[in-house]
Amino acid sequence: MPYRAGRHFLQIPGPTNVPDRVLRAMAQPTIDHRGPEFQALGHELLDGIGEVFGTVRPVVIYPASGTGAWEAALVNTLSAGDRVLMAETGHFATLWKQIAVKLGLEVDLIPGDWRHGVDPAAVETRLVEDGAHAIKAVCVVHNETSTGVASRIPLVRHAIDHARHPALFMVDTVSSLASIDYRHDEWSVDVTVGASQKGLMLPPGLSFNAVSEKALAAHAHATLPRAFWDWSAVLAANEKGFFPYTPATNLLYGLREALAMLRAEGLPNVIARHARHAEATRRAVRAWGLEVLCVNPDEYSGSITAVMTPSGHDADHLRSVVLDRFDLSLGVGLAKLTGTVFRIGHLGDLNDLSLLGTLAGVEMGLALVDLPHEARGVDAAMRYLEGCAGSA
Ligand SMILES: *Cc1c(COP(=O)(O)O)cnc(C)c1O
Repeated sequence: MPYRAGRHFLQIPGPTNVPDRVLRAMAQPTIDHRGPEFQALGHELLDGIGEVFGTVRPVVIYPASGTGAWEAALVNTLSAGDRVLMAETGHFATLWKQIAVKLGLEVDLIPGDWRHGVDPAAVETRLVEDGAHAIKAVCVVHNETSTGVASRIPLVRHAIDHARHPALFMVDTVSSLASIDYRHDEWSVDVTVGASQKGLMLPPGLSFNAVSEKALAAHAHATLPRAFWDWSAVLAANEKGFFPYTPATNLLYGLREALAMLRAEGLPNVIARHARHAEATRRAVRAWGLEVLCVNPDEYSGSITAVMTPSGHDADHLRSVVLDRFDLSLGVGLAKLTGTVFRIGHLGDLNDLSLLGTLAGVEMGLALVDLPHEARGVDAAMRYLEGCAGSA
């Protein structure tokens, strides 16, 4: 590949741009993970990580991608043959469901059209019908990264409570953590699944389970086989600031730096910044005359926007042209959205001008591929951003 001057625009919805500060923090010697220096790092991280989840309870950190944390959530709390209620919001919900099936769980699936979030009324209906309480967990993807639709977690919580159902509540926040408002404790979530490579601004390789007291109680008598993922072993070692196996030490250096950056900006400001960039992006899409995949404005995602291309216009052709011409990576349409959708990731370490650069790349790309549009999207985003107080 020839050298390409300037920064690559990595505007896929994860992995996201890793800030220089995080890269520098990781470029340190790997230390003895059983020594006192590591112990201090371990204590600092385990004490600090809960803040981004909105929890004062333990968060288990795994050296694994998000998929591992999905599996961990299930094997730590459930037993073979248990029923779980899931909702087909898109590709990621489907992948989580496939893991549940492979583990021998019985999945009740609420069907979806990949343009809406979880319907709280449908959750309530299914739970009310389950008078025998055979359903042991409700598993929901907060921000469905394949569609740019954010489900309303407090409403799902309310639905479970309203049905007076004791099921555990598990939420995947891989692409919403530190970018869309989320509160593990306040919303009484039992297991929150997270990962490093999206809002947390880290490379891939770390993932998380935030764990409620109720989830720990279920863990005590759950019988799905678990070894590497076993919370008990991790939590016991964590008491002393350590891990039961070799941790991803350099990623943990990065995590320490990322948490410091989020704290310095302030989590509410981080979330407001993402909401502002999401709104600017949607205004650009509308000004182009294109359609946002997400139908319900109450479910717009703060971290990613999926844009539909008109029939006869291949979204992947647009993606390849902007990569070639402008060194801009956009997210691919996944599974049944292949070729009909492209995704603009606007999460992580991003400011107004990097967003505008991204939108300018898309706008030029639309012209280059002769996709019918009005070349007014960047302008619409600029007018919106210049009117926002407190912009970055
Ligand atoms: C990226 C993502 C995942 C994760 O998985 P990896 O195993 O880290 O690739 C899971 N859920 C959602 C919603 C995601 O966006």
